[in-house]
Amino acid sequence: MLGRYVNNLNKRTHRFSNFSRTYKICVVGSGPGAFYTAQELLKRSGAEIDIFERLPVPFGLVRYGVAPDHPEVKNCINGFTSLMQTRRCRFYGNVNVGKDISVEQLRSAYNGVVLAYGAENNRKLGIPGEDISGCYAAREFVGWYNGIPSMAGLKPDLSCENVVIFGHGNVALDVARMLLSPVAVLEKTDISGAALETLINSKIRNVYIIGRRGPLQTAFTIKEFRELTKLPNCHGHLDKNVFTDLNSIIPDLARPRRRLTELMMKTALSEKTAELCQQTGSQHWHMKFNRSPTEVLSSPNCRRVSGIRMEINKLEKTSEAVRAVGSGKFEDLACGLVISSIGYKSIAIDENVPFDAVTGIIPNVKGRVVSKRLYCSGWVKRGPIGVIASTMKDAFETAEMISEDMKQDNLPTSSCFGFEEIAKYLDQKGVRYVTFEDWNKIDAHEKYLGRMKNKPREKLTSVVEMLNVIDTP
Ligand SMILES: Cc1cc2nc3c(=O)[nH]c(=O)nc-3n(C[C@H](O)[C@H](O)[C@H](O)COP(=O)(O)OP(=O)(O)OC[C@H]3O[C@@H](n4cnc5c(N)ncnc54)[C@H](O)[C@@H]3O)c2cc1C
Repeated sequence: MLGRYVNNLNKRTHRFSNFSRTYKICVVGSGPGAFYTAQELLKRSGAEIDIFERLPVPFGLVRYGVAPDHPEVKNCINGFTSLMQTRRCRFYGNVNVGKDISVEQLRSAYNGVVLAYGAENNRKLGIPGEDISGCYAAREFVGWYNGIPSMAGLKPDLSCENVVIFGHGNVALDVARMLLSPVAVLEKTDISGAALETLINSKIRNVYIIGRRGPLQTAFTIKEFRELTKLPNCHGHLDKNVFTDLNSIIPDLARPRRRLTELMMKTALSEKTAELCQQTGSQHWHMKFNRSPTEVLSSPNCRRVSGIRMEINKLEKTSEAVRAVGSGKFEDLACGLVISSIGYKSIAIDENVPFDAVTGIIPNVKGRVVSKRLYCSGWVKRGPIGVIASTMKDAFETAEMISEDMKQDNLPTSSCFGFEEIAKYLDQKGVRYVTFEDWNKIDAHEKYLGRMKNKPREKLTSVVEMLNVIDTP
């Protein structure tokens, strides 16, 4: 099946040769935003596409964000891999665009440039104590358990009993689930070896998942919430009182929100005897609403997290939204670890590319950036929200705009040298770029290491190690 698809893509070079035979397009980033743009562009045109990635390994958040116990979500990698079998798509990893090569240099070497470099940073809580030891952004924690090289040295201390996670989105629930899942489940996933080791020795008993607003404003989906309720030897606690006023509203809610609220309510009302809660070895998650963090508390003698101070909120309805407003009442909660899961954030990678620092996106119209021959796709196009399916839809739109511009002759047809030109710059700078064949070697090596441990793979967590594997004959 895949072979036939690849053959069809190769044939398209001839079918579309009237308008796009010589177009060379490059894509910055290799997550779903990049691969789905490339896939659609290959389908719609005869363009040749080069993908540039900062790391020696492809797939962005599919590899380094999606939770290890959700392997089915990572199946999109099979489609991305088959795309690389076409003669018209190439991968150049270990190339940091903005540092190793500028967007201007890419623009001179290619007919069009697509920026799909995702969201490499996170929003901050903006409260005192946020920088003390034991307080992390979910982006860092997720990167750590997924083995991203930049977080390999994180070493979170899980010897405390209580953990607080701020945020009511799917990423917050992923983090809670990873902290509360049995080791027997985690050890069969592609979780990083260091994270597994730390979780085996974890002393965590209570995970508090705290949000600014109420149950009707949560951003997580029912699938992720249900997974929490099904964790073995783990009990969920929600404040019944928060749901008392909702009974009359529930029937009028849209179906997904109604089903989620009903499940939350059912979990809140389910009886948890004191005996059950005291069971040795049992763990608990507590979902709390209407609370904003105001300070990360630290122990007097060492700069380590000892708790969190929160202001209790009231909800105020405006014409557009439901706002959380501080009540002036505060509450402290003792904990040894704080993880803020309040959103990822894109950054500017090149001063010559327009970037809106407030919204954290590259300003664009359907993926077209103001200056000609520049496009964007994925989270850097619309902000760090949405699952892989929505990123795909949005990437298809960008590809459609590029192929429109090809048809309308809005892209210069002058011969571009493509990677031939870029390789010269990279060689001058001593940048060791890697190809998809090199990634195949890393992939095979990781799977081999995984087989030794009955895991799907053991990820390499350092760039040096990755390059060594490539260089080993
Ligand atoms: C923790 C987490 C869990 C998720 N779980 C799910 C899930 O279960 N199911 C689901 O459908 N969706 C999930 N998502 C959403 C999904 O991951 C995103 O929709 C998708 O990855 C966004 O794609 P992207 O290409 O825009 O960004 P990314 O996937 O982040 O890809 C961007 C790529 O650009 C590269 N890059 C960055 N800077 C540069 C540079 N200067 N030069 C070259 N390359 C660069 C990065 O290394 C990265 O590889 C999850 C997201 C997160 C954060």
